[in-house]
Amino acid sequence: MPTRTPNPASKPRPELASRTAVLQQAAHSAVEYLNRLDSRPVAPTSESIAALSALCGPLPNEQTDPAEVVRLLSEIGGPATMAISGGRFFGFVIGGCLPAAMAAGWLVNTWDQNAGLWVATPVSADLEATAVEWARELLGLPEGTASSVVTGATIANFSALAAARHQLLERAGWDVEADGLFGAPELHVVVGEEAHPSLLKSLAMLGLGKNRVVRVPVDKQGRMRADALPHLDDRTILCLQAGNVNTGSFDPAGAICPEARAAGAWIHVDGAFGLWAAASPNYRHLVKGFELADSWATDAHKWPNLGYDCGLAFVRDAPALRAAMSLRAAYLERGARREPSDYTPELSRRARGIELWAGLRQLGKAGMAEIVDRTCAHAQRFAAGLKAAGYEVLNEVVLNQVLVSFGDAEKTARVIVRLQEEGTCWVGPTKWQGKTAMRISVSSWVTSEEDVEQSLAAMLRIAR
Ligand SMILES: *Cc1c(COP(=O)(O)O)cnc(C)c1O
Repeated sequence: MPTRTPNPASKPRPELASRTAVLQQAAHSAVEYLNRLDSRPVAPTSESIAALSALCGPLPNEQTDPAEVVRLLSEIGGPATMAISGGRFFGFVIGGCLPAAMAAGWLVNTWDQNAGLWVATPVSADLEATAVEWARELLGLPEGTASSVVTGATIANFSALAAARHQLLERAGWDVEADGLFGAPELHVVVGEEAHPSLLKSLAMLGLGKNRVVRVPVDKQGRMRADALPHLDDRTILCLQAGNVNTGSFDPAGAICPEARAAGAWIHVDGAFGLWAAASPNYRHLVKGFELADSWATDAHKWPNLGYDCGLAFVRDAPALRAAMSLRAAYLERGARREPSDYTPELSRRARGIELWAGLRQLGKAGMAEIVDRTCAHAQRFAAGLKAAGYEVLNEVVLNQVLVSFGDAEKTARVIVRLQEEGTCWVGPTKWQGKTAMRISVSSWVTSEEDVEQSLAAMLRIAR
């Protein structure tokens, strides 16, 4: 291999010494931060939030030493964070960040690659192409499926649904990318009554409308009722859900997909976290039937614990996704290489495929299965402990989500606020079919049995 000979005349750049110091300082602060997580309250205190005002004034006229910028962030920003990287954060559906993914994130920032084009950064393009195949396989999706690495499930839903819009309109003789939606043949969108609000936002951004969808009634667990489906045809996009954000339940894909396919509908799956159940032999049965869909959206920053931000879109019909996303003419002859920006809304973008590669490489198939199994077992323990103390668990705990009521709406809300203030753990409120509930989502690789026992004890202590 030829190597580049350093120019003997080149002198070390003086600014590099301070760069080294500031990066080492940041690495040191980051490690300190992580090591202190266990001994701080999960939520930031009101004093640390108030202290943020020191960072929020007008932009100074003078330059600031980078070391001072990092010091301000570490000393004032750090304490005002929510301890999401710790083991006792159970809010929303939010994972932690695996060491390999976190460290890869540091390298990605250092390398400063623009991941839009292969020619600009072969390492990002090749690792991304490898990692999305690993993810596709873990999720049990068909070979040949195209994929994009985006910022989250919202944009993954958007990207996959853009492919659906392209395909159904092309079949109807309309080029939506060229001519837009004005005067286009009408498409019908069918969603479950329990569709995630961000799915509706994705539909809105695509000009398909939030309100002109047909909503299918759901059962007590939030599953779409297969017996209540409207007429489906080849102008229909049917959106199923794998993993309800409250109950963790799955729409009955096995009962719905064969018929929907036969009718010519495009089946899309919002599986932001639930789709990863496919990675575990113990939970794989829950996603049975979803592999019959045409497109899928999921998050690597939720259950796989690969850090923010990382969403994945998969589309069975690769040309449809390229037609919707590529800058180039839709059916231009392509080389063997996967060009990242042929698949994403963005051109310039962060090389998040490298973090995806690093996290999945750390986990392997067994590690991903283990995260699913362990977090689901923790959810079972929470549910059993709360039930044993006489509190009502509102959902069938099929996955990593638990909904609990401590009595009436007011009492449940009070317990949640007190628990957040007390600081052992963090859980949020939700409404489930008209009832106020506390939602426990066990999604982090860090959470240990001890974390669960400590948090459960705090819940029971405060509820009493
Ligand atoms: C979290 C979630 C989303 C939105 O994902 P983002 O990554 O926040 O954009 C969509 N659908 C479901 C079911 C979710 O759980």
